[in-house]
Amino acid sequence: MTLAVFQKEIEQLSKKKIKLKINDNRSTMLSVKWEPGCTKVSMHRIFLEAPKNIMDALSCHIRKENSAVSPTVKAYIENKLKSLDYSSTLDKAKLVSDGNVYDLREIYEYLNDYYFGGVLDLSITWYGKSYIKNRSRFTFGLYFQPLKLIKIHKMLDSLEIPLYFIEYVIYHEMLHHVCPSYYDESGRNHVHTPEFKKREKTFKDFKKAQEWLKINSHHFFID
Ligand SMILES: [Zn+2]
Repeated sequence: MTLAVFQKEIEQLSKKKIKLKINDNRSTMLSVKWEPGCTKVSMHRIFLEAPKNIMDALSCHIRKENSAVSPTVKAYIENKLKSLDYSSTLDKAKLVSDGNVYDLREIYEYLNDYYFGGVLDLSITWYGKSYIKNRSRFTFGLYFQPLKLIKIHKMLDSLEIPLYFIEYVIYHEMLHHVCPSYYDESGRNHVHTPEFKKREKTFKDFKKAQEWLKINSHHFFID
């Protein structure tokens, strides 16, 4: 939809005069300011291709001042956000893959070849400190879909961590790219989908990694 057509449609549906701004940054997906005589709407370009039900929910939100964004619109934003590729904005010079014990890039390349036919094109970096006081709050790995970036906690860069365990953590994060999470209509986020869990079990040391975690979890979760 062109901007002009979109503006006309959203004004008709919401019965409001709108000052519209379309942006391409991840920080403002949708913002509505109800001012006397004019409603200011700033939204991400993903809305230009919104289907009818989203246009309806959106205009309902714009019409009703101070109303909360509906779960349908939230789900649309979250799902669309995942399909956006902002990886070109990533400063690759800041990524650190070489560790004291493990080289993340090396392990990632091996897993990519072994499990994914070498087709994945993701970035990977260490994050955090190798020692942290409150270990109950740390996450082994994270995946940032729009940046196509995997972050692995520096605590895992240790001789105490077996190779198959760190492989498992990286494989898990890679799977998040292959089996993306999604929001359903009620706004519920489905992260580890049945497909995800099925594929996770195909990791060759899956059971070993689970066992190791069970036995060693006291290293990580002190509280
Ligand atoms: Zn996960």
